[in-house]
Amino acid sequence: MEFKVTRNPNPTPASEREEIIANPVFGAKLTDHQVVVVWEKDKGWHSAEVIPYGPIMMDPSAAVLHYGQEIFEGIKAYRHQDGSIWTFRPEANAARLQRSARRMALPELPAEIFVESLRQLIAVDGAWVPTPEGEKTLYFRPFEIAAENFLGVRAAQRAEYRVIASPVGPYFTGGVKPVSIWIALDSARAGKHGTGEAKTGGNYAASLLAQQVGYENGCSQVMFLDAETSTYIEELGGMNLFFVYRDGHVATPSLDGTILHGITRDSVITLMRDRGIEVQERKVSLDEVREGVKTGDIVEVFACGTAAVITPVGTLKSSVEEIVIGGNEPGRLTVEMRMELTGIQYGIRPDRHNWMLKL
Ligand code: PMP
Repeated sequence: MEFKVTRNPNPTPASEREEIIANPVFGAKLTDHQVVVVWEKDKGWHSAEVIPYGPIMMDPSAAVLHYGQEIFEGIKAYRHQDGSIWTFRPEANAARLQRSARRMALPELPAEIFVESLRQLIAVDGAWVPTPEGEKTLYFRPFEIAAENFLGVRAAQRAEYRVIASPVGPYFTGGVKPVSIWIALDSARAGKHGTGEAKTGGNYAASLLAQQVGYENGCSQVMFLDAETSTYIEELGGMNLFFVYRDGHVATPSLDGTILHGITRDSVITLMRDRGIEVQERKVSLDEVREGVKTGDIVEVFACGTAAVITPVGTLKSSVEEIVIGGNEPGRLTVEMRMELTGIQYGIRPDRHNWMLKL
């Protein structure tokens, strides 16, 4: 698909841009351009364009504003030491966007258009990709919205795919220090046969109240339990979880329909299995974790996702308890996996699985 490119006539002055990318704040400043591709039921995908960054003109009856028919992705561009710009497993994000689209009755964007949209944005906004010091990257936010002006409750017949991008630094400003996680005991994110597996705005809207309570209790993320029995650990508001046992094996909640198929999760499982580590994908209950931490069987807990990479979890907290893991210090495997994954992403460790794609 050909992209029509219209350059921003008033781009951010270079000095301002350099200042922004030297001290980026997650999602606060966006680059000078955006990608738009339109879908209509009778025409399919068409009108691919790169246009100046700016507001979306939208009719107040647009379906997305009323019924939340929306999906999104998160993926980064990494600058290597030689100045080249790369991304990590874009086909996996493209496939996940398609799965989210199916669940939310939106049109599936072909993977080639997804990858090309990232290339097109880098072609005009490449100068926004920071140098790698301090784990800085450019974060792409591809998203798809129901853009039909119609209040009827049915799948929209017009949709828009867009990509915007923001220079980002470490997600947690404290560096690789263990974070505290709030256990949501009275709030669920996703239920059986619901939309938990889709990367759709409603799942995040459902998580915000618990996250607010978590913040008020000194925690930076929320851990959700299964909606049916409040017994099993699912995931955080924006990250997957891993539990490291004293005997060397690792467990992570299985993908049973309610949790997001994290690409970092999948990559970490692969890298651990490469090392001969036994990784169990299974149900992990809060009781097991509480007991395991108490007896010393569980020695590390970490969270992972594109934004925060791999972050040690030091404390799990709720209104009734506080579980402190590994003396609130980052664990050995957590730190090693973090170095290995970021090493691949920044081009300083071998990319044995061909995960990196040059943009
Ligand atoms: N779970 C949720 C709910 C998320 O929003 C994310 C971030 N996309 C993740 C897990 C981690 O997924 P990934 O590793 O693909 O970023």
